[in-house]
Amino acid sequence: MTTRRSFLKTSSLTAVAGLGGVAEAVFANTTLPSAWDLSTEIVVAGSGPAGMGAAVTAIDNNAKVLIFEKGKNYGGCGVISAGILKLEGGTRSQKAAGIQDSVEQYYKRLTNPNEDLSRAERMGNQELLAKKVEHTAAFEDWAINHGVKFRPGLTTAGVDSQHPGMWHHVWWKDGGEGRNMIPPNKDGYVTGAGLMLPLKEYFESKGGRIYLEHKVTSVIKDANGRVIGVEVLSPNGKILKVLATKGVVLAGGGFRGNVPMRMLFDARMTKNMIATGEPFVFQDGSAIKVGVKAGGFMVRDGNRPHSNFRRKFGTIHYNFPLNSPYGAPGLDVAGNRWNQIIFTNKNGDRFVQEVDKWDLGTGYNFYDLALAQPDQLIWTIFDDATAKKYRWSTKPPVCEEGLAFDANTLDELGKLTNQPNLAQTVERYNNFVDTKADSDFGRPAATMTKKIEKAPFHAVRCVLAVHNISAGLAINGDGQVIDIDLQPIPGLYAAGESAGGIGGGVTGSMIVGQIAAEHLTNN
Ligand SMILES: Cc1cc2nc3c(=O)[nH]c(=O)nc-3n(C[C@H](O)[C@H](O)[C@H](O)COP(=O)(O)OP(=O)(O)OC[C@H]3O[C@@H](n4cnc5c(N)ncnc54)[C@H](O)[C@@H]3O)c2cc1C
Repeated sequence: MTTRRSFLKTSSLTAVAGLGGVAEAVFANTTLPSAWDLSTEIVVAGSGPAGMGAAVTAIDNNAKVLIFEKGKNYGGCGVISAGILKLEGGTRSQKAAGIQDSVEQYYKRLTNPNEDLSRAERMGNQELLAKKVEHTAAFEDWAINHGVKFRPGLTTAGVDSQHPGMWHHVWWKDGGEGRNMIPPNKDGYVTGAGLMLPLKEYFESKGGRIYLEHKVTSVIKDANGRVIGVEVLSPNGKILKVLATKGVVLAGGGFRGNVPMRMLFDARMTKNMIATGEPFVFQDGSAIKVGVKAGGFMVRDGNRPHSNFRRKFGTIHYNFPLNSPYGAPGLDVAGNRWNQIIFTNKNGDRFVQEVDKWDLGTGYNFYDLALAQPDQLIWTIFDDATAKKYRWSTKPPVCEEGLAFDANTLDELGKLTNQPNLAQTVERYNNFVDTKADSDFGRPAATMTKKIEKAPFHAVRCVLAVHNISAGLAINGDGQVIDIDLQPIPGLYAAGESAGGIGGGVTGSMIVGQIAAEHLTNN
């Protein structure tokens, strides 16, 4: 039976035979494929937040849209994200919380030179910034209109807490694939699935189609240099030629999983580091390469012109829940728990005052120092009183095999983990706790509340992760990929972490996708 939904699906996949005359007339005298395998108006490469922002906006503007997603999973990092959305400018939730804000005030804050440099956006793409601010203020209403549910209440977080009421939360009925940073309430769990899954449902209900395990490998241009299609590697190895009469949006995320490519931007991001999101998402930089091969080039983000790191404890996987098929959660070392641990390097030496200190360059100054240690190998050392207090298990399924060790003496633990200086380092640290003075690294006295003295002793690998490289294809204020003469490449757009100059994040990526699709469908 042909339902309305299946009819719409088919119609967005108009066979080229049906368009044949049009294609021949428009693209006469060009070197085109002898036949197109699929045809649509807009192709989106990637089903993450940027891709969905573009695809949903385009379909709302009556365009026919196909999404090609290279991975097995829908939703990119957005679906495993914490679902913590950075929204300002007078949103519905801000109003409900009694927070007075407006687009003008928000823009002023972002461009205020007295602001913390790490979040002031005045070095980025200014044309895009102005549009992004407006879209950010309107985002919550847009999402609600597309089936997304927001959890009542706002929170503040980390360095951004000088702007109360900025963090919005979307919820979903179950925990999703990512680890939930906020405990569930009666509404459900705070997870990026709460944003990404309703949008998928909406997109498909409007006749959009998502092809999983289909990787966009290059664009096809007509004789005038206009992008009119893509080549797509399908699961059976066949290269599909796909006509996109209006244009193509590259929304394949960044390149943090591509070691040589990421090391061009920061030589410290060696193979010793993991990439967040893997193995659910593998950011290989392929969509960016498609844009570069088409004539684009890469730029750093203006608003966060440095790499962004994360760390995990006892796992090489970032933020998956207990018993996830994608990896173990590791230990939750956060808040006051810092007071109970020390970090050591490969030799068993301390190298940093362990308690978090915000740093404009890398996020936390910890990373600058950790990345400079031999083999970037870092251990977290604590005793059994701490393990019991926080119910830290060093065994699977909490920690991964080979990343957490226990021993009855510090000498044994040092041998087990090849840290020759471990026992004397702990002894020295315990003396600092007695005197409340860390003469090596100046750790604040208030954070030295606990000696490491109760056997068994534990060593858990602190694994360093690349989270965001903050660079991508140069785009203009409409999301068009520009060439080295700063001219737009007709028909080619980029958004999210595939684009540079403006920054990512769930909503930031989705909004640039929206902006690109608006231009694509209105021109
Ligand atoms: C664990 C985790 C938690 C996070 N939590 C938050 C949070 O709470 N709030 C927040 O604002 N941000 C968060 N982030 C960051 C946020 O998820 C990203 O900035 C955002 O998802 C980027 O969106 P994107 O669409 O550009 O890229 P992605 O989300 O990486 O999506 C890109 C998609 O494109 C696909 N793709 C790549 N190349 C191709 C190709 N050539 N052809 C076809 N498909 C391709 C990829 O497989 C992927 O599915 C988190 C990130 C992670 C990893």
